[in-house]
Amino acid sequence: MNSYDVAIIGGGAAGLSAALVLSRARRTVIVVDEGSPRNAPATHMHGYLSRDGVPPSDFLAHGRDEVVGYGGEVVAGTVAEVVADGTTGSWLLLADGRRIRGRRLLVTTGLRDELPDVPGLAERWARDVLHCPYCHGHEVRDQRLGVVGGSPGAARYAQIVRQWTHDLVYFTPPGLLTAAERSGLVARAIGIVEGTVEGLVVDDADRLRGVRMADGPTVPRDVLFVPPRFVPHSRLLTDLGCAVDDDGWVLVDHAGHTSVAGVWAAGNVVDPRAQVVTAAGAGSAAAIAINADLVDDDVRDAIDGFHHGWTA
Ligand SMILES: Cc1cc2nc3c(=O)[nH]c(=O)nc-3n(C[C@H](O)[C@H](O)[C@H](O)COP(=O)(O)OP(=O)(O)OC[C@H]3O[C@@H](n4cnc5c(N)ncnc54)[C@H](O)[C@@H]3O)c2cc1C
Repeated sequence: MNSYDVAIIGGGAAGLSAALVLSRARRTVIVVDEGSPRNAPATHMHGYLSRDGVPPSDFLAHGRDEVVGYGGEVVAGTVAEVVADGTTGSWLLLADGRRIRGRRLLVTTGLRDELPDVPGLAERWARDVLHCPYCHGHEVRDQRLGVVGGSPGAARYAQIVRQWTHDLVYFTPPGLLTAAERSGLVARAIGIVEGTVEGLVVDDADRLRGVRMADGPTVPRDVLFVPPRFVPHSRLLTDLGCAVDDDGWVLVDHAGHTSVAGVWAAGNVVDPRAQVVTAAGAGSAAAIAINADLVDDDVRDAIDGFHHGWTA
């Protein structure tokens, strides 16, 4: 079995940034990555200073090269289970038949976007069905945009999408809008269509052209924004007993430490709001905290050694 100072599960922006900092700090690091980052369906990544517009796969390939360049290991695989090794205080990762030991564990496994059950939405995800206006709003500015409502906070989300166009329609099941939400939408000239969305209309060139209502005409639209439900990939953490909040999200401190000693988490797995740049930042902050924690071990070991007449 191979042993490392730090075992990282997940090789997206958070995991690779942590691995870069730790390998440059001369820690032995392994990243085990399944290879399905959340933004993989997008052709371009936006809003990351100095990397705006690069394909997500290029960004991560470059990151992996940087980690490997400093001696870190990045391997493909799925971690199915993590168990605490009581005798050494380390963690054992079971990944596709491999066993990996880490003195510290960092989980950066991201999240899954669960879309509303509207026929055709999932097929057009990351093309002309989008969720993040900060990621792709600029690219579709001034087009005929729509927001698929019906979930908590969706009317507020529509007000944010309004920043990118004057031609916005809010689709909502009947009876859900509060008076305050309705007056806010009307005041900012956001069209309101109440009814059931039956499906999407796509033209011969495979472009979205409209939203077909069950009880009414098709509403012409070029792009739809949808607020998904965010589902964290946090089972490995909850299996270890990490504390969660009332909504089931794993709790971490400012540096990503969970309630379980030796276990950190960063990026979308604990923060649905994290963009690529913030996920990378959280990974970096966790790495610095993990290294400091390992240094504390090193100091303890050195003092023990000193008392036993060894030298470090
Ligand atoms: C369509 C779309 C477009 C987006 N565009 C942008 C954009 O332009 N700009 C921006 O800033 N943000 C964008 N985002 C958000 C961006 O995807 C996230 O901010 C970012 O991916 C978070 O990084 P992360 O490292 O936390 O998670 P991820 O990037 O999702 O990485 C997690 C990694 O962990 C792996 N993994 C999961 N479970 C396991 C396991 N058990 N074992 C091993 N590996 C595992 C996954 O396969 C994945 O590779 C977009 C999101 C979507 C959905």
